[in-house]
Amino acid sequence: MIIIKRIGVLTSGGDAPGMNAAIRAVVRAGLHFGMEVVGIREGYKGLIEKNIMEMKYRSVSDIMAKGGTILKTARCTEFATPEGVLKAKKSADELGIEGLVVIGGDGSFRGARDLSNAGIPTIGIPGTIDNDIACSDYTIGFDTAMNTALECIDKLKDTCASHNRCSVVEVMGRHAGHIALNVGIASGAEAIVVHERDFNLQTDIVEKINKAIANGKKHFVVIVSELFCDSGKLAAQIEATTGVETRATILGHIQRGGSPTLRDRLMASVMGEKAVELLKDNIGNRVIAYKNGVTVDYDITEALNMKKDLKEEYFSVFKVITY
Ligand code: ADP
Repeated sequence: MIIIKRIGVLTSGGDAPGMNAAIRAVVRAGLHFGMEVVGIREGYKGLIEKNIMEMKYRSVSDIMAKGGTILKTARCTEFATPEGVLKAKKSADELGIEGLVVIGGDGSFRGARDLSNAGIPTIGIPGTIDNDIACSDYTIGFDTAMNTALECIDKLKDTCASHNRCSVVEVMGRHAGHIALNVGIASGAEAIVVHERDFNLQTDIVEKINKAIANGKKHFVVIVSELFCDSGKLAAQIEATTGVETRATILGHIQRGGSPTLRDRLMASVMGEKAVELLKDNIGNRVIAYKNGVTVDYDITEALNMKKDLKEEYFSVFKVITY
């Protein structure tokens, strides 16, 4: 069996809280299994440019509680071309990197597949606050982002309640409504608007607010998933049709920052260690995933072709308990 002696780790695409815990786990596991580990700065760009740091046990001390990624992340258009992949492979060869762990989203996994095909066994770890990686029920950063959004919404509710207002809150997720659905239920919102379900202003928002008014309620929250619509315009429509003063708040990148929750640190630690276990056996072209309560791995192409929906059960519960 080929023994891998030196591995690299990089973070790519959007940052997510918990990436540092994953880096730490990769470094510690790599050293534990007798390998050398290098940290690659700024994603695939750093690999092409050979921008690395040698990682020792103490290189990852005290990073677990930090948000962001100590390796920094970047988007690299050059790498997404066949020439870019060849350059990255050449750099990896020159640096003696024989295996790689990539922490990121679907785009980063496409790169991981290409590098594996070029001869550098590469393992993907799902790291994105959006939870939009189909093969995995969970992605690193999701829990922290939801808790950050929830804390903000709770604060917005205080001021809405004082002024008898409606608050339209846009949460992140790119085209996925996982954050919106979860925080919508957990914050006691009146409506949740996501890409994955049909939307009708009258039945999904106006009638719900009118029902809540009839039930004695005086302040309201509508959660809208990122890129669904112009939240400011939606707020104006709600005000015009219900007569309730309505303000829009876009939470934005605040949801990407902050110290990771226990769940994110734990998932990242487990996934990081599992990734290195595969590499030490010279296995590449796999994505680590969390499925039905266990940590598993999939072929990257198979993983990229998978689909995942929002939990219908959560929508049913939301309908029953929202008044
Ligand atoms: P994410 O990993 O969060 O989905 P991106 O889609 O921005 O983020 O991808 C991150 C990086 O992965 C890109 O900057 C690029 O270097 C690489 N990448 C994205 N798509 C591809 C692709 N189709 N083939 C090869 N590499 C890709």
